[in-house]
Amino acid sequence: MKIAIVGAGVAGLTCARAMVKAGLAPVIFDKSRGVGGRLATRRAEPGLQFDHGAPYLTATGSGFAEVLRQAEEAGALAGWQGPLRAADAGAAAFVGLPGMSGFARYLAEGLEVQAGATVTAVTAEGSGWRVAWGDQAQVFDRVILTLPAPQILRMIAPDLSLASALRAVEMAPCLTLMAAFKGVCASPAPERTETDDLDWIALDSAKPGRDGGRQCWVAQANAAFSRRHLELEPPQIAERMLPLLCRHIGRRPAEATHAVAHRWRFSQAERPLGQPFLADPSQGLFAGGDWCLGRTVEDAWTSGRALAAQLLGA
Ligand SMILES: Cc1cc2nc3c(=O)[nH]c(=O)nc-3n(C[C@H](O)[C@H](O)[C@H](O)COP(=O)(O)OP(=O)(O)OC[C@H]3O[C@@H](n4cnc5c(N)ncnc54)[C@H](O)[C@@H]3O)c2cc1C
Repeated sequence: MKIAIVGAGVAGLTCARAMVKAGLAPVIFDKSRGVGGRLATRRAEPGLQFDHGAPYLTATGSGFAEVLRQAEEAGALAGWQGPLRAADAGAAAFVGLPGMSGFARYLAEGLEVQAGATVTAVTAEGSGWRVAWGDQAQVFDRVILTLPAPQILRMIAPDLSLASALRAVEMAPCLTLMAAFKGVCASPAPERTETDDLDWIALDSAKPGRDGGRQCWVAQANAAFSRRHLELEPPQIAERMLPLLCRHIGRRPAEATHAVAHRWRFSQAERPLGQPFLADPSQGLFAGGDWCLGRTVEDAWTSGRALAAQLLGA
């Protein structure tokens, strides 16, 4: 059976791993150069590294906790005592090594990933599904789409039954600032208030396994600020976010040696689907990802597992 998975984030990689274990050989397509999707690490000049997507991982269920334990044993994760969001208070948190994308690379070991392949259309052809990317196309028996719901909608026909369920999913944007300063900042664990435009600040370089020589900060804007400024160019976003970060860490914007913004158009689900995946009535086309169940890496993993179970069961 020819199987294609579009998206090498945690959902796609998890689904692929279960299939390979069962003796199948799925091909994973991803538009990026590497794997991980929103589990992302950006490297700038030597010594500067930022986790600009998910800053840490937590597990609420024993299945994902066991995956994290194994990854920690393999040296792809480490425990982290850093500041957690209120929703995660008291949870055991982990960070990827040497960056968050390290966990995705661990999940991708032994999988066939076609990187740099931006899929533009998935259409029904005979009893299969035709996947088109660049100037190439191939027909597969099963196609599994594991990208944010709004991005899936761009590649499938609007009259497919999956499409109406996908349209009901809402995902919030998130503007992220990656900034570095010379020397030590006054406040390594800043307090934030509810009126802030920022949702999250972390001293990334203080995570385990990072080069602590330079102070690398990551600040994530809240959804309201992100929506207001979504269409600005990244340099303008950085210009607006840098003073917000500086207010919390006792530095002046002029002291920053690096300030670059990243725009996540679809960062986390505000209105998830409410079930672990979607299937076309033909049982040849599937859709999954974190947005099916919630907003976390664990939700992506759960969806990836459920997709694989459905296909392997069939
Ligand atoms: C700013 C931010 C903060 C977050 N904070 C947390 C947190 O604290 N805790 C937590 O658990 N989670 C957090 N998350 C969410 C977490 O990152 C996601 O839940 C998880 O990584 C989603 O995995 P996924 O596989 O469903 O999707 P993704 O990781 O989005 O994977 C989709 C993949 O599809 C690829 N793709 C997209 N379009 C195409 C195309 N046309 N062709 C081919 N490939 C394509 C992308 O490159 C990507 O690799 C955060 C996310 C963001 C952005």
